[in-house]
Amino acid sequence: MDYLIADTLPWFATQQERLRGALGAGRLSHAFLMLAPPGLGADSLAEWLAALVLCEGPQPRPCGGCASCRLMSADNHPDLHVVRVEEDAQQIKVEQIRDLIAELAFKSYRGGYKVGLMLDADLMNTSGANALLKTLEEPAPNTLLVMVSRPTHRLPVTIASRCSRLALRPPDSGVAEAWLAQRAPKRSWAAALQLAGGAPLRALALGEQGMAELDADMTAALAQLAADKVDVTLLAERWIKSEPALRLAWLENWITRRVRAALAEGDSRQSAEPVRLNGALLKAKIRAQFELLDAAREFRRLATTSMNQQLALEALLVNGRAAITG
Ligand SMILES: [Zn+2]
Repeated sequence: MDYLIADTLPWFATQQERLRGALGAGRLSHAFLMLAPPGLGADSLAEWLAALVLCEGPQPRPCGGCASCRLMSADNHPDLHVVRVEEDAQQIKVEQIRDLIAELAFKSYRGGYKVGLMLDADLMNTSGANALLKTLEEPAPNTLLVMVSRPTHRLPVTIASRCSRLALRPPDSGVAEAWLAQRAPKRSWAAALQLAGGAPLRALALGEQGMAELDADMTAALAQLAADKVDVTLLAERWIKSEPALRLAWLENWITRRVRAALAEGDSRQSAEPVRLNGALLKAKIRAQFELLDAAREFRRLATTSMNQQLALEALLVNGRAAITG
């Protein structure tokens, strides 16, 4: 694993400094829960933290050159145990958690820390969480558990409350754009960043897929849909064949902006003379927009299952037409 990637992500610099300081002062927590949206690089920060405590080289750690750092780079460190969702699995299996617990209970091979790294921690099921609880309640000395989760509320509070929480948020757009510009200087990153919820790595990935083209294509499609000039079946078929998840993310983003605009409109009306009829129409519009937003989220959630995407997307577009038109 390339844990030094974290050193190239400036939005983690403050956290890295704090973690180094805590380790140096002997008050590093035994368990961390990193909450981060996808595309921020939280996995890299978690790997970096593991490398920090395992590094045996000179400061600043992780040095990248000592025996321990080299073992990590080769994914071969005997005192590091990584858990992530296995390919084709929907959840972290309870057996994986048990292996992790057993591994952390062993004596350190190299005489330092034992580190457990759990990526996708929000995909741990209740049995897994229960199994992990005792390890969190009675941590062995010199063990560190680092969990990375999307900022959802799916993790049991019994787990979350026993960890030091690091809420990682997208950087200011200026920082993100400067970082992106270093990697691809000739394009504007504002739109990709917005679609990516401000997460720079996600914006970079989207950029590679032709963000600008997507934007133009989707705007045109919605205009046609609003004007009733498109065959919904054909449109759904086209979207399913080409980047359905990205298109739905784009649609979510687009409808979110419209909901915000409609809500702001409602606020300004409340302070003025009440206009009942318009207020009711506005409420209906906002409700339709929220329904479309829910439908888009649900579609993305279920997109990995065996649902009939074509039919689901057709229904979403037909039902959502009012929100798109209004
Ligand atoms: Zn090192």
